[in-house]
Amino acid sequence: MIPLSEARRHVLDRVPVRPPVDVPVAEALGLVLAESVTATEAVPPFANTAMDGFAVRAADTEGAPVTLDIVETIAAGHAPTVEVGPGQASRIFTGAPMPAGADAVVMVERTAALPATDGDGEWVHVEIEVPVGNHVRPAGDDLDIGAVVFEAGAVLSAAHLGVLNSLGVERVSAHPRMKVGVVSTGDELVEGGGALAPGQIRDSNRRTLLALAAQAGCDVVDLGIARDTEAEITAAIERGVAECDAVLTSGGVSMGDIDLVKVILDRIGDMRWMQIAIKPAKPFAFGLVDGTPVFGFPGNPVSSMVSFELFGRPALRQAMGHISLDRPMVLAVADSELRRHADGKIHFARVVASHGADGRVHVASAGGQGSHQLGAMAAANALAVLPDGEGVAAGDDVEALLLDELPSALRLTGR
Ligand code: AMP
Ligand code: MG
Repeated sequence: MIPLSEARRHVLDRVPVRPPVDVPVAEALGLVLAESVTATEAVPPFANTAMDGFAVRAADTEGAPVTLDIVETIAAGHAPTVEVGPGQASRIFTGAPMPAGADAVVMVERTAALPATDGDGEWVHVEIEVPVGNHVRPAGDDLDIGAVVFEAGAVLSAAHLGVLNSLGVERVSAHPRMKVGVVSTGDELVEGGGALAPGQIRDSNRRTLLALAAQAGCDVVDLGIARDTEAEITAAIERGVAECDAVLTSGGVSMGDIDLVKVILDRIGDMRWMQIAIKPAKPFAFGLVDGTPVFGFPGNPVSSMVSFELFGRPALRQAMGHISLDRPMVLAVADSELRRHADGKIHFARVVASHGADGRVHVASAGGQGSHQLGAMAAANALAVLPDGEGVAAGDDVEALLLDELPSALRLTGR
């Protein structure tokens, strides 16, 4: 057996970052920027009002209440045409440009508009004194011209995309998504919901691995099921290598005679078969076929998922330019005991994690810990990392890898 760290280093050393491409911002969610972005415009592009109200000269409000002559109404999207002179004001709506002459806004709630007694125009009664700049958003208040807005390495979130659009940036240089093909191997596997012949089971790994790769930000290609023959598995892997940037297989990498994936990867690629000091997911094959990484995950459903988390996801993210490769780890409190026997391996226990009232993350066993028990894996949202030894008692601290969102008793709208 080799240590987990060595196996990960072997894989990560062989999956390089993909060279950047030019990507439309509309398709860039989740991608990693390859070059920094500099603002070539100011945001906002002009000084504008943060409130509905009246644009005034602040000096005119001294000794308020005062009454000012309304000279114009300015809505968002429209340019002011009249300068605000002494004793004057313009009615203005949120987002509209500040008119020349005005240097402050009085919110509408602190004013009253009055028709002029002589029927000529309109006046506004201003109740309060306001300082220069009141409720005014200066040009460049959000982003200044010339400022580095995002550094290379930034992961483009919804807000990032909005910022890029607000700057008029249409394309960015980013590391492209990996296109990942997924194939299941095994004579026992069938697809869909028909009757099962003796000895058959339904393929679950392919759906799960396709979903995990998609969640990791990859484009995915379903390569189907390959029977346990050299010809079928070779054809599926070769198709994957031709069409994709990485191939994920499951099954056929353990010690048995018909574990063909490792035999084939050895023949057609530069493969290393590993027995890793972890449970589940001890066997793992990794090879480069014509330079394309092929991940040979074990067949047991939980093992293939754990193997993806430990090797597949970090390698795919590395290729897509991410600096942070793994899911977040937390130091949690074990609410149930998580026992194990010393066997030289790190164990990954399927646990349900949640935010406790004490501000800490708490974990409890998600149920059956067999590597075939996908039900408990589905119930889990974290893997507790149990170093070699006897495991942890209830109440002990334990490190956990968070796979999904954590439920919390706190509610946005209160109790
Ligand atoms: P293997 O690694 O091929 O020896 O398979 C180990 C175990 O995982 C066996 O019980 C297989 O039937 C099961 N298995 C392999 N592939 C899949 C799959 N795609 N879906 C569900 N179970 C599988
Ligand atoms: Mg098999």
